[in-house]
Amino acid sequence: MTAPYLLTPGPLTTSPETKAAMLCDWGSWDDDFNRVTANVRTQLLAMAEAGSNTFACVPMQGSGTFAVESALACAVAPGGKVLVLMNGAYGQRAAQLLHTMGRRYVILDKGDYLPPQPEEVDAVLQQNPEITAVFLVHCETSSGILNPLDAIADVVHAHGKTLIVDAMSSFGGVPISLAKTPIDVLISSANKCIEGVPGFGFVIIRKALLAEGKGRAHSLSLDLHAQWEYMECTGQWRFTPPTHTVVAFQAALAQHHDEGGVQGRCARYTRNRDALVAGMRALGFSTLLEDPWLSPIITTFLSPTDPAFEFNAFYAALKARGFLIYPGKLIAVESFRIGCIGQLDAPVIETLLAAVHDALIEMGVSPCPDSWSA
Ligand SMILES: *Cc1c(COP(=O)(O)O)cnc(C)c1O
Repeated sequence: MTAPYLLTPGPLTTSPETKAAMLCDWGSWDDDFNRVTANVRTQLLAMAEAGSNTFACVPMQGSGTFAVESALACAVAPGGKVLVLMNGAYGQRAAQLLHTMGRRYVILDKGDYLPPQPEEVDAVLQQNPEITAVFLVHCETSSGILNPLDAIADVVHAHGKTLIVDAMSSFGGVPISLAKTPIDVLISSANKCIEGVPGFGFVIIRKALLAEGKGRAHSLSLDLHAQWEYMECTGQWRFTPPTHTVVAFQAALAQHHDEGGVQGRCARYTRNRDALVAGMRALGFSTLLEDPWLSPIITTFLSPTDPAFEFNAFYAALKARGFLIYPGKLIAVESFRIGCIGQLDAPVIETLLAAVHDALIEMGVSPCPDSWSA
C-alpha cells in the first residue's frame, strides 16, 4: 500500500529526499552534527530576515508546544502580564501554558473564527498599562484563519510592548520579515511549512530579551536561555537532540531554498488552496471563513447538513482513497479541515476532489450544491 497523503497541518507529507536523510546515524556531540545544527540556526534567521546581531535562533527538543512553553517562560518576567489574543485552540493553549507556569495574563477572545482587530488590541493596551507582552497566533490552525500580524505588530510596538508570535503553521510558507515587522519572539517547528519531520521547534528571539530571560524558566529542560548558552559555548544541544529530525530538517531547508524560498512555497500552497476551495465549493461545500481570511495553510469546511453525511464515514472513505484529512476543532458547528501544506501540488488536489465526490456518493450524500448548502 502506498502511503496516504497527509492533508493535515503537520506532521505532513515529506519528500523522499527528506526521508532519505534519516537513514544515517549521527553522534550528538560530533562536529559533523554540530555543523548541521549551526547551519540550520543560521538559515532560520535568514528565512525570518532577522539580523544575527539582534536576534538569536534557539532550537528546542519536542513538539511545537514545547518551544512555545520555553519561549513564554523566557520572554515573560514573573511579574509580567500577557495579553493573549485568542481565536482558537492555540491561543487557548498559550493561556493554559501561562496559567501553568504562574504568569499573569488577560485574554481577548474572538471565539472560533473572527480575527482580533488592531483597534481592539490598542484599546486593551490603553486600558491595561500593566500588560508587558502580547501573544498572537499568526495562522490559527484550528480554523485556518490568517490573523492580521503586521497591523497588530504596529499597535503593540507603538505601546512599547513585547510581541510574541506563534508562527508555527505559517513560518516558511507565508512571508514574515523581522526586519520589517516589529516582532520580538517568533516560534515555529520542524514539521510544518518547512516540511521536516516532527521532533523539535525553534524560537527566534531578540537577544536583549533572551538575556533578560536568564534564570526565569520554571522548568529545567524547557529553559530557553540555558539551551542557547550551552549551544553558544559547545555547539551542542543541552540534552539529547533529535538527530535524525535535525538532518532531515537540513535536507528540507535545501528543498525549501530550491523551491524559491518562502515566496515559492507560498505560491504552491496558494495554488493548492485555490484549487481546493474552488473544487469543494463546486461540490457544494462552504468554507467557514470568508475569502480574505483564508490562509494558504489549512481550510475549514462546514459539514453538509444532509443527514447522510457523517464525518467518520467520510474520513474512512477518503482514507481508502489515499488521503488523510483532519477533524474540525470548532465548538459551534460541525466541520472538518483539509491542509494545503506538505509535498502536494494542484494535481494531487484534483485527485482528492475526485475522491471527495466518490466519498459523497458512497455515503449517499448528493453532491449537488443546492441540496444541502447552509
Ligand atoms: C502545530 C501548532 C502548534 C504546536 O502544536 P504541537 O502539537 O505541540 O506540535 C502550535 N501552534 C500552532 C498555531 C500550530 O499550528
